[in-house]
This record gives sequence, structure tokens and C-alpha cells, in this order.
Amino acid sequence: MKIKEIRHLSVPMTGNIANAVVNFSEHTISLVAVFTDQLRNGQAIYGLAFDSIGRFSQGGIIHERMIPRLLQTDPESLLNEDGSFDCSRVLRCLMRNEKPGGHGDRAAAAAALELAFWDINAKLRNEPAYQTIARAFGCEPARTGMPVYAAGGYYYPQDGVGRLKDELKHYVDLGYSAFKMKIGGTSLTEDMARIEAALAVAGNGSNLAVDANGRFNLQEATAYAKAISPLNLRWYEEIGDPLDFDLNRRIAEIYDGPVATGENLFSFVDARNLVRYGGMRRNRDIFQMDPGLSYGLTEFARILTMLEENGYGKPFIYPHGGHLINLHIVTALGLGGCEAYPGVFQPFGGYSTECRVADAKIHPGDSAGFGLEAKAELVPHIRKILEGYG
Ligand code: MG
Repeated sequence: MKIKEIRHLSVPMTGNIANAVVNFSEHTISLVAVFTDQLRNGQAIYGLAFDSIGRFSQGGIIHERMIPRLLQTDPESLLNEDGSFDCSRVLRCLMRNEKPGGHGDRAAAAAALELAFWDINAKLRNEPAYQTIARAFGCEPARTGMPVYAAGGYYYPQDGVGRLKDELKHYVDLGYSAFKMKIGGTSLTEDMARIEAALAVAGNGSNLAVDANGRFNLQEATAYAKAISPLNLRWYEEIGDPLDFDLNRRIAEIYDGPVATGENLFSFVDARNLVRYGGMRRNRDIFQMDPGLSYGLTEFARILTMLEENGYGKPFIYPHGGHLINLHIVTALGLGGCEAYPGVFQPFGGYSTECRVADAKIHPGDSAGFGLEAKAELVPHIRKILEGYG
């Protein structure tokens, strides 16, 4: 099998929403396509993927460093014995001559490309990616759907509390019964009013998580911990700076409910430092590393193994990024569940119509690969990146 061409398209995200730290109106995402010389039904097999949500598109790194490395490499050296791509070899190739450390934008760039090769592997077998991934890692894919919660509850420019309640009610209508909302973008008093309003829809605390997006210092984190403690919330997410493991540990020491973090840790080494120094409690706290931001599935699988070796179970792993790629990964590896962005982060957020949400669980569809082609909002961008090929 040969790699004939690799393309990158920077796709803007729609909407004007914000968390405590970031307004997403200027955000972009890297969509990549890797074309092979293999044919199926007369069509060239290609892999499609993107770098999750939240770190901007990575066209510079992808075009200047990573695509040339892949195209200069003998493709036979990237293959498994069965002729599929060995994605760990693909990642090694992408990272040639890169120094260790500094796991930022480069991790998202590599992830978009590495994940596209998983899409190819699934399309070679004409099966959904979760089946390919489960086989590769010796797992039995979940048959009954994966737990899913609706992530939203952002700060909108106008009408905070009323719009928040309407937003959550809309998610109820779509079949969701667990939710996550943002905190830390206003005063503690106003946030408590927002949380109470959300709880009126969610029913009780176990259905509602709150996310500070790394905004708090220790004093603020402590004040919020004390205020929300009686509500028994589902979890208290990304309390301080993602690399401030000491802050995470100190809050875990005084807050009985689950804490959640990890979406902004992009490497095995960073995740291991969280385990070593972050005070994460077994059978309680939640890990949220996102393959699309952290060098792809190869590195994510290393992180999973490390977590399990340290006594942290798969049911406590909920990758960040409510989208099709992570749904396939969560289903394949039997993780705790995934989030969904039913109303926001289009065209990448949420799922396609072939994914069913029922009883707070979601099933991936039957399309080959990650099924991105079946997501209507993505179709115009996919047409554009495939244009003239074949
Ligand atoms: Mg978060």
C-alpha cells in the first residue's frame, strides 16, 4: 500500500460561545485526508480525521514537518504483516527529529494524522472503526451503547440563566439525562444561581458536572469546592491550571466528590505526572485525556495502560471531545463514556444521525471508519478536502 497524497483543511468552528477562559468564535480545527492507492468498489481508500476540539488547526506543523516525513518514508516500513498501517510506526515517523517535552500544538497535529490511519485501517476492512480498534487492542467492543452526557452550559453574551435552562431542556428532549455546565466565568454567587437553575432541569447533583476550564487559583478553587460540596455533583472538572498538580491534589484532599481533569494533558509523561502528583483518587476521580489532542490513539493507549497499572479503572475514563472519533474509541476500549456537544462546536461536535441516543447511551453507526462522511455538518468540508481526487 502506498500513500499517494495527504491534504489538510483548516475548518472554522461556528457559534459564539465561551467558557471561563476561552471564546471559541475564532477557533479552527484541522481536517486531514490521507489518500492510498487501495481501491474499494472502484474508489480510492482514504483516511479522514481531525484534531478534536479546542486547540486550533495545526496546518503549519502538519504541512511543514509531518506530511513531508510521511511522504519521504518507505510506506512498507509503516505496515503491519496483514497489510494495514501500524499506527505506532506512523506516529514514530511523524515525530522524527522532534525533541522530547513541550506537548502542545504538535501533539494535536500528530493526532489528526495518526487517527486518519485508523480510519484507513477500518475502511480496508469495510467496518466501523470501533471494531478495528477493539481488535488491535484485544478488547471486546461494547454492544449496548456507551454512557453519554450532554456538555454545554456555556456563557452566552446575553440572557444567562434562562438560556442555560432552555439549553438543558433541549438536551432532555434529545434523550440526554446527564449534563455538564461551565463555571468560573462570573462570580461565585452568580455561578451558584446558574448551578441551581441547571439542577432544576437535571433533577439531582449526580446528573450535573461543572467545569472550570482551569480557571481557578487555590483560593477560588477552595471557595467553589466548599460552596458546591453539599450539592453532590457528578464531578468538579479542570479546577486549576492543567499542569498545577499540587492544586488538584489539595482540592482532592478537601472535596469529597469526584474531581475530573486531563483534557489538557497531551502526553503519556504528563498523564503519569498527574497520577504521581495530582492526588487522583481510585474509583472516584475522572480522567479526560483526549486522543485527538495527545498524539492520537497510540499514545492514548499507552496512557490507558499506565492508568490501569496504577489502579485507575476504565469506567473512570471519559475522554474530552464529544464527537465521532472519540465515540468509536470509547466503544472499542470500553471506557466510562463520552460527552456530546449536541448544540455547539459544529461542524465537528456531536454525532451523526446514524448514532442513536437512548436511555443516556449512544451507539456508533455502521459506516466504515469513523463515519465522518455520515455527519451532515461535515459533508461540505469533506467534499472540499476530497475535491478532484480519485
Ligand atoms: Mg472540560
